[in-house]
Amino acid sequence: MHRQPRLDLSPPPSDEMRQTTCYMCACRCGINVHLKEGKVAYIEGNRDHPVNKGVLCAKGSAGIMQHLSPARLRKPLKRVGPRGTGQFQEIEWEEALSLAVSWMQPLRETAPEKLAFFTGRDQSQSLTGWWAQSFGTPNYAAHGGFCSVNMAAAGIYTMGGAFWEFGQADWERTKLFMLFGVAEDHDSNPIKMGIGKLKARGGRMIAVNPIRTGYNAVADDWLAITPGTDGLLILALIHELFRLGRIDLDYLMAYTNAPFLVQGAGEEAGLFLRDAKGTPLVLDRRTGEPAPWDAPGVQPDPAADWQGHKTVLRLMAERYLSPEHAPDAVAERCGIPAPRIRAVAAELARVAFEEEITLNQPWTDFRGQRHEVMKGRPVTFHAMRGISAHSNGFQTCRALHVLQILLGSVEVPGGYRFKPPYPKPVEAHPRPHAGVTPGQPLDGPHLGYPLGPEHLLLNEDGSARRIDKAFTWENPLSAHGLMHMLISNAHAGAPYRIDTLFLYMANMAWNSSMNTSEAMRMLTDTDASGAYVIPHIIYADSYSSEMVAFADLVLPDTTYLERHDCISLLDRPIGEPDAMNDAIRWPVVAPDRDVRGFQSVLLDLGARMRLPGMVKEDGTPRYRDYADYMVNHERRPGVGPLAGWRGEGEGSGRGAPNPDQLDRYIRNGGFYSDHLPQNARFFKPWNAAYQDWAVARGLYDKPAPYLFALYSEPLARFQRAARGLGPHQPPDHLRPQLQHAMDPLPVWYPPLGDSLSDPAEYPLHALTQRPAAMYHSWGSQNPWLRQIHGMNPLYVPKKLWEEHGFQDGDWAFLISPQGRIRIPVARMDALNERTVWTWNAIGKRRGAWALDENAPEAEKGFLLNHLIPELLPDPAGRRRPNADPVTGQAAWFDLRVRLEKAPPGAPSEPAHEAQISPVPKAPKTLARHS
Ligand code: SF4
Repeated sequence: MHRQPRLDLSPPPSDEMRQTTCYMCACRCGINVHLKEGKVAYIEGNRDHPVNKGVLCAKGSAGIMQHLSPARLRKPLKRVGPRGTGQFQEIEWEEALSLAVSWMQPLRETAPEKLAFFTGRDQSQSLTGWWAQSFGTPNYAAHGGFCSVNMAAAGIYTMGGAFWEFGQADWERTKLFMLFGVAEDHDSNPIKMGIGKLKARGGRMIAVNPIRTGYNAVADDWLAITPGTDGLLILALIHELFRLGRIDLDYLMAYTNAPFLVQGAGEEAGLFLRDAKGTPLVLDRRTGEPAPWDAPGVQPDPAADWQGHKTVLRLMAERYLSPEHAPDAVAERCGIPAPRIRAVAAELARVAFEEEITLNQPWTDFRGQRHEVMKGRPVTFHAMRGISAHSNGFQTCRALHVLQILLGSVEVPGGYRFKPPYPKPVEAHPRPHAGVTPGQPLDGPHLGYPLGPEHLLLNEDGSARRIDKAFTWENPLSAHGLMHMLISNAHAGAPYRIDTLFLYMANMAWNSSMNTSEAMRMLTDTDASGAYVIPHIIYADSYSSEMVAFADLVLPDTTYLERHDCISLLDRPIGEPDAMNDAIRWPVVAPDRDVRGFQSVLLDLGARMRLPGMVKEDGTPRYRDYADYMVNHERRPGVGPLAGWRGEGEGSGRGAPNPDQLDRYIRNGGFYSDHLPQNARFFKPWNAAYQDWAVARGLYDKPAPYLFALYSEPLARFQRAARGLGPHQPPDHLRPQLQHAMDPLPVWYPPLGDSLSDPAEYPLHALTQRPAAMYHSWGSQNPWLRQIHGMNPLYVPKKLWEEHGFQDGDWAFLISPQGRIRIPVARMDALNERTVWTWNAIGKRRGAWALDENAPEAEKGFLLNHLIPELLPDPAGRRRPNADPVTGQAAWFDLRVRLEKAPPGAPSEPAHEAQISPVPKAPKTLARHS
């Protein structure tokens, strides 16, 4: 008999497997990292992990190439040539840290605000914010101001949470999912898995996006909306729901401020009518008289008009039933026919009210009333930067939250669900602080949520207290700061000059700045004496990004597989609707370079400067490194960065530090989960069992039920100030803007960029979005992912393509009032007719990221950022940010352009001079095992 050779069909992929958390994007999936001979050989998804349940995307598996990247920094660097050229000398860590301290320590003792510390897409903001607070500078923020603060702030002010970290669709039960402006890298694996579940159950998905790629490509219905008009569409849907009488009145009366009376006249007009104790009043149907909303047995009249004081619901009906919000009135501007808008509204109402879900699960609300079942409306929404990165984004995001509340589909079975530690209403968040005392910590946390003009960060003379002018009349609710204004303001010395710019993982000399060429100029500009206008720049990153060349001192970070990290409930956790989760990263391999985890470096710098909380009484460092901090730091007694296995190992959320904590996380796959009891899983803001559960775990210190804010009184307080009332008064030129933008009910106004450029001259909208395969600039240096996106054409819709007579391989000029770029074009038909777009951050500067100087990313890649101004023109010459006037979010997507045919041929323009690479060029082949 012929003998077959014995083949090993399933050889073990590794000698050892270690479980940690992915960082190839911000989703924080669980991964199994396989090692062979102690080196990373292969990465797969962790099937037990709550975020991804074993699913791994292209980026996640390509993490091995990120870990082995030739662009990794190797040693601390000190600048020796002119700033921006990339000429450095390698130095030892001791010299690097001493130099950093020599710049920062004198500032702390004299003028702490002269240090500006801003971080990019890191996941350690509870540490970095605490560090900056201890240092005493008011100038700290992360990247939210140029990301999606509109979404986050609108959610917090409306219902105590928005999307992604805050909550998600009830994927097990929802039947209709509507997605607004979400690029496909966002909440990547969880949304893909959710859409899969929805479709497997026969559920439907409606996508609203000018561009049909990614998630939008698998939608059952696609609305190719004109950029900046999402708010108009949403308010038209609300108009239809009111017109059809399809709103969940019971839900609104029980769980929202719909029945509150709003004062109609007098000094307090626009604020709630309150009793002597300050409790908002409703009109009690039993007596026909006002009564506190929470009085026992009160029966609020939803449509009351009492002595000119109307309920919130009545004001909403009056506003949104107006013809200006009818589908026919908005269809042309939205680019969506009125019958389609009506059809979507009818579908939302049909699924919400005719396919109601009932779970046989009793629960008790905060009023003490027992409910025998949990009822839900299986309609869910999700949205992100597409609707928020406009100058009308805050109000648009608020409109979307109000829409889902009107349908009664928040925190109910089948609807949108919060993830612990959310929900957290605006009142439970801190207010912003900027009280500086040399040699002392700041007087409180930097970032927060103002409840009125009294919480703005202004000096007596009305000038801004922060370098980015966050929390000023220009953008009162800038809860994440305005990182996009940092370099521009520091360069202009407006509101003041700084001495040291300390950045972490923020590529602000390239794709993380509006007006990129100008940002580079400002970073290198000198004063009359020849000194740099921004005297010192310290930059920490893992890779040789474009920003490295602009630093005076570079602190090299590790890769995500070589360090400790903390995905904390104090920060941006990975909760599920049914569980409180957090996670860690840990060094699954040791660095082979002279690099250190940035968080440990930060603690070291803090100890060297003797910052409060970072040294013991004898002056020695309190924490050995970040791992030690993760275990032993306590933000409040018994509450620290990690929730799991506290105390003797039994504590969840609360408990003394446990020296075995990290070991327990590692043994559990790198994460911790604590599931909610069945009766606490829905109606969280009003559910007594959930509130008790959350208090036991340290999420709150006492039960804090609250009502959703259809009508936002904090916004009304700013409007009132704009009318000249109250002790805190805005400058006159901002009164009209405040009156309009701070409307306490969602409103739509055209994006500010629209009104500042002639629509006839700049008829097109230009957008970017991140691809599924890459996460900002990190991916376009990764050899596996570069094979998917090595360059980025400008995608042009069919009609425009034909009008210009474009052919495959053509190039075009794209022109905005800010400037002109020359770029390759490609045709795409699934696109709004008035929109062109490209992938974000593929284009690279020559010499950066250890890429070849003729790499396609530099030859045929490009950034739209060159066309986007950070300031809007102002007739009076004031510095007016190109941002949302409520939150200050960068209005990336307000960009208006025109297109012209250009001579073909690389390189794309502007073509910047090559930087000298501080790391050696990449080898031609990257062999791991010989
Ligand atoms: S979605 Fe992909 S890249 Fe992002 S964390 Fe998950 S596996 Fe990693």
